[in-house]
Amino acid sequence: MTDEFTTTVYYDDDADSSYIDDKTVAVLGYGSQGHAHAQNLAESGVDVVVGLREDSSSRAAAQDDGLDVATPREAAARADIVSMLVPDTVQPAVYADIEPALEPGDTLQFAHGFNVHYNQIRPPEDVDVTMVAPKSPGHLVRRNYEQNQGTPGLLAVYQNATGEASQEALAYAKAIGCTRAGVVETTFREETETDLFGEQAVLCGGIASLIKQGYETLVDAGYSPEMAYFECMNEMKLIVDLMYEGGLAAMWDSVSDTAEFGGLTRGDRVVDDHARENMEAVLEEVQDGTFAREWIVENQANRPNYEQLRQAEADHDIEAVGEELRQLFAWADGETEDESTDDERTRQRADD
Ligand code: NAD
Ligand code: MG
Repeated sequence: MTDEFTTTVYYDDDADSSYIDDKTVAVLGYGSQGHAHAQNLAESGVDVVVGLREDSSSRAAAQDDGLDVATPREAAARADIVSMLVPDTVQPAVYADIEPALEPGDTLQFAHGFNVHYNQIRPPEDVDVTMVAPKSPGHLVRRNYEQNQGTPGLLAVYQNATGEASQEALAYAKAIGCTRAGVVETTFREETETDLFGEQAVLCGGIASLIKQGYETLVDAGYSPEMAYFECMNEMKLIVDLMYEGGLAAMWDSVSDTAEFGGLTRGDRVVDDHARENMEAVLEEVQDGTFAREWIVENQANRPNYEQLRQAEADHDIEAVGEELRQLFAWADGETEDESTDDERTRQRADD
């Protein structure tokens, strides 16, 4: 490996809490990430004020959790570090509201680079701009912290006005529990582009299309939708769990030799060079800003295409089949069952 690709990983010992101890953090938003950052920071001894609109339904929750709540502008004015944890599509408007409250030497802190990288937010030159992005949904960031465990995260500095941006971001990462597990250094550009590409081509978009195409291939060939659902959707989790635990090797080890030989000879025929070319085209649209523009305009127009695509996805046959089968087999996961699933189970057994 060349130096260029060497990753730096930071742990608790690399972080100096004195860079955040006597500072005030305004956590804007109290959703998935916001509630976790706010509570973890507060329990780490940092002064926290949650910034929420007067009519926000999250205000009660933040107050119930013992936190100080103010409007985003008031919170930002009191703070040294403003942590932008409202939804990405809402951030430019919230930023416009709080910008006058940013003072030289303050920090604007993010958990995702989209708005800064695509110039939807242009912070003044005299503030630090940093990112601490837990690689996990907020409820796990909170739960791990409570259980004395860590959540892996990413750290990046976009603008270092004070000369202390990295140290402060690292102290922030420690205070929310990320350096317990390890924090990887990256850039706003890398985090944003790999995040968008991953969710589009592989994680959300790619996998959903692979499942639907597999299901449709079987159903169109005359096989039962139930069998097609089990083979193409239900088993996906079992396979991915093995990869998560031990990489591709753990998956290949665990399946039968027949599955391994069939997979190794056929997989690349399905996701082939053509799919690879399409992936490269998707990546290019991420890199040249085409996707970002499309998404920004879509939001400005109140999401007409988005709503239509959502509806079409919800109407796909595999969703109805899946809902029925998941209820029928809920007992397998030890979940509670209602009368109707009980009846269906009896019917199912009678059919065996
Ligand atoms: P979220 O949707 O869970 O919560 C957003 C919160 O913002 C709401 O609960 C509310 O308190 C507030 N809010 C909503 N609409 C608002 C408005 N119009 N004006 C003002 N406040 C409003 O958001 P999230 O998923 O926690 O995302 C926050 C940031 O964290 C984003 O940049 C996101 O990319 C990033 N991130 C999220 C995750 C995740 O797993 N959810 C992981 C890593 C990074
Ligand atoms: Mg301030």
